[in-house]
Amino acid sequence: MAFESKVPQGPLENKWTEYKDHCKLVNPANKRKLEIIVIGTGLAGASAAASLGEMGYKVKSFCFQDSPRRAHSIAAQGGINAAKNYQNDGDSVFRLFYDTLKGGDYRSRDSNVYRLAEVSANIIDQCVAQGVPFAREYGGLLSNRSFGGVQVQRTFYAAGQTGQQLLLGAYSALERQVALGNVTVYDRHEMQEVVNIDGKARGIIARNMITGELERHFGYAVLICSGGYGNVYFLSTNAMGSNVTAAWKAHKQGAYFANPCMTQIHPTCIPVTGDHQSKLTLMSESLRNDGRIWVPKQKSDARKANQIPEDERDYYLERRYPAFGNLVPRDVASRAAKERCDAGYGVGTSKQAVFLDFEDAINRYGKIECGKHGIDNPSAAVIREHGLEVVKEKYGNLFDMYEKITGENPYEVPMRIYPAVHYTMGGLWVDYELMTSIQGLYCLGEANFSDHGANRLGASALMQGLADGYFVIPYTLGNYLAGEIYNKPIPTDHPAFAEAEDNVRQRIGQLMNIKGKHSVDHFHKRLGKIMWEKCGMARNDKGLREAIEEIRALRAEFWQDLRVPGSDKEYNPELDKAGRVADFLELGELMCLDALDRAESCGGHFREESQTAEGEALRNDEKFMYVSAWEFKSVGNWELHKEPLVYEKIQPTQRNYK
Ligand SMILES: Cc1cc2nc3c(=O)[nH]c(=O)nc-3n(C[C@H](O)[C@H](O)[C@H](O)COP(=O)(O)OP(=O)(O)OC[C@H]3O[C@@H](n4cnc5c(N)ncnc54)[C@H](O)[C@@H]3O)c2cc1C
Repeated sequence: MAFESKVPQGPLENKWTEYKDHCKLVNPANKRKLEIIVIGTGLAGASAAASLGEMGYKVKSFCFQDSPRRAHSIAAQGGINAAKNYQNDGDSVFRLFYDTLKGGDYRSRDSNVYRLAEVSANIIDQCVAQGVPFAREYGGLLSNRSFGGVQVQRTFYAAGQTGQQLLLGAYSALERQVALGNVTVYDRHEMQEVVNIDGKARGIIARNMITGELERHFGYAVLICSGGYGNVYFLSTNAMGSNVTAAWKAHKQGAYFANPCMTQIHPTCIPVTGDHQSKLTLMSESLRNDGRIWVPKQKSDARKANQIPEDERDYYLERRYPAFGNLVPRDVASRAAKERCDAGYGVGTSKQAVFLDFEDAINRYGKIECGKHGIDNPSAAVIREHGLEVVKEKYGNLFDMYEKITGENPYEVPMRIYPAVHYTMGGLWVDYELMTSIQGLYCLGEANFSDHGANRLGASALMQGLADGYFVIPYTLGNYLAGEIYNKPIPTDHPAFAEAEDNVRQRIGQLMNIKGKHSVDHFHKRLGKIMWEKCGMARNDKGLREAIEEIRALRAEFWQDLRVPGSDKEYNPELDKAGRVADFLELGELMCLDALDRAESCGGHFREESQTAEGEALRNDEKFMYVSAWEFKSVGNWELHKEPLVYEKIQPTQRNYK
């Protein structure tokens, strides 16, 4: 099986240019004959499908939502990074590359990350050309803000709705190709299997979710752009439907799964309030540009935030990390919040929360505004009034969302926040061309492992999804397809299609026929609890071993006691969920196995046994400087392959944000 990263020779800065100059091309007449399957219409999938359609390929685009533009990407709030250096604050391609590599705690492949930084600027131009309404300064220039783990302002944004605006841009491009006949969209279709013929991906089996019918689709290549698997934890900030099924089916067909334990826990989410919840809500990282995070200095302080005087507040991020303050990366901020709450300084009724406070920002902006308006000696009330306007303009929709969910007005009292599962850095292993270990099977966006190592920096997921779809795959796919033009399309009555369809039908039948006592959510919640407690923000050897046993037992129970109502010949969201949770129950075990193998701390993967005296993550480069790529053998049985990580241009050091 292929396990070659295919990184081009030559200096880091020249690799992508060299690749583009020398990769094989497919001529326009041949492109028209080549059908490509794209699973997913989030930013990665929509940008890929639109670009490939524009290039002349025949594209089939699948999503499980009722419209491509409802993909989870629409929820992205804060922004998208690019090394444009509009602020003249010292940004460059190298600095974005360096920040991303360091932010990921030196567990990603440097050539991929360098390419990402290189194409980042093109993404903004592309999106502006599509009409994406990025925020602008008064003079018309695109505006930037900061995200965690960096000291420059390189994040482009559209209020707190950046993902929505970017997805509308990609969707318009996609729809243009639909109108031109180059792309066919299959919404409410869920990919259930990859068809693998002689080691090459040649198609998929999809289920029409409205009728329950199974469909066979041929393609010269299959692109998995199916998003992340954070919902394995049950509670996460991901859209409710986000799942691992497409990537998992590919994995079981031979695609290696890389770094599955690398999960990002986002520091600023609305805290859990009880067992009734099925979803957690993110408060964008952009809020840390202006919000200050603190807890009372006194343990179990029951006073209201506004009653606690300044000198009795512990701005613990500013205290511990003076250089980056509230803008330390997510893994660092999350652990620091957990540390304070575990030590008894948490706030709110659950004591599992910290404050995110905008009072300083309101006053700071208020003074600037009063100055701009020529108001001499403004009163505190006038300053506040002007400051509120600015904060409202920048974050209004996020503040409204917070108020709707919690019933508290964040303009008046600090928000209460706590870390929650948000993003998965792990995913299908891909080489430099974004091809998995199955020929012709590609993986883009959050579903692959490629660029973020052990911790993703804020605003870098949108950048990666669009880089993959708009700028990378259009080249790398051609390099493969140039060798495919001699092969005729494979008819879908080929035995491999029949066998794949049979497997899907049998599995659906199995799920329907258990007729046990418990709902899918019953099992999903229990899985999530195991994952959160034993493979969450902190992990240790004993807990992980226990988790593996508990997940195995839960999986066995699931297959004996699950109840799926209704029929498989109709729209049946419980059946859809059951298939996804069945896959999560296998993935969860692999995540724990991976976390157990990696007996070091890095980024979001914090092994309690491996920390510095100050409680920071302690890497072990001698033993773990590799990407873990797991090969599926049978359920509960994997073989680990290791891709060594070699850094050409930088020397990995202990991450320091002090
Ligand atoms: C609340 C929130 C806010 C965020 N804010 C930011 C931000 O400000 N900046 C940033 O950079 N990142 C942000 N992120 C992360 C970012 O949104 C995601 O990483 C990114 O949008 C993922 O895009 P994607 O195209 O890879 O996948 P998705 O957008 O998740 O799309 C997945 C697609 O795959 C389809 N699909 C999945 N499985 C199947 C199947 N079996 N069959 C058919 N179709 C399938 C779905 O229908 C969907 O169309 C945020 C994440 C969250 C949760």
